[in-house]
Amino acid sequence: MVIFVLCAYPDISKFIIYYPREYVCENCNKTYAKKSTMVRHMKYECGKLPRFGCAICGYRGYQKTHVERHLSRKHAVLYKPDINRNILIFNL
Ligand SMILES: [Zn+2]
Ligand SMILES: [Zn+2]
Repeated sequence: MVIFVLCAYPDISKFIIYYPREYVCENCNKTYAKKSTMVRHMKYECGKLPRFGCAICGYRGYQKTHVERHLSRKHAVLYKPDINRNILIFNL
């Protein structure tokens, strides 16, 4: 189900697509718009420590992409194929 909400500001003539969060994690009551996201949350995130982490500063993230983004922003690790970012990411 998709609900279109008209933005309250008249100068922004865009429709905001609002996805109602229909799926609820029965453990922590977090809500998700997609079932697949909720299932991933229950499998990897709910009640668990983040699996991935930055080997430089110890930052932890539930998803590898979060740690990769952290590496590029905080530690200026460039997205080059010859740099093996995996050595900078620990995976529990
Ligand atoms: Zn949960
Ligand atoms: Zn870090």
